[in-house]
Amino acid sequence: MAGSRLQAMYLVSVMPKHTRPDNARLDRVVAEARRLSAEREATYRERALKLFPWICGRCGREFSGTRLRELTVHHKDHDHDNNPPDGSNWELLCLYCHDNEHMRLLEQQARPNNSGDQQSIATHNPFASLKTLLKKQD
Ligand SMILES: [Zn+2]
Ligand SMILES: [Zn+2]
Repeated sequence: MAGSRLQAMYLVSVMPKHTRPDNARLDRVVAEARRLSAEREATYRERALKLFPWICGRCGREFSGTRLRELTVHHKDHDHDNNPPDGSNWELLCLYCHDNEHMRLLEQQARPNNSGDQQSIATHNPFASLKTLLKKQD
């Protein structure tokens, strides 16, 4: 018994220690981070597609089969790291409406005094987040 324990201690003491800087390891870490972020994106899209009907939240187009690729996940607060499991920060939008949504926000940010028009255009949507934005601008 005592002999095998000594042997184990000897093995530990001769094991190589990784103390020098290792660029290959850093590359692996970066690659891993990229992989995780891509995986996370695939995961929240999958989750959102399970939570919501496959319909664009703006134009109401329905999607299925291969065209489902055109249905994208929009983050209501535009923070891709904010992914609550209940989907409260997600909205399914088709590619076109998703583009428009981001353009609209950019325009809104460029012309903060013109926000009254934006509200009258948005008749069919609960623009809770827009209201919060408008309040912030006051
Ligand atoms: Zn759409
Ligand atoms: Zn978006």
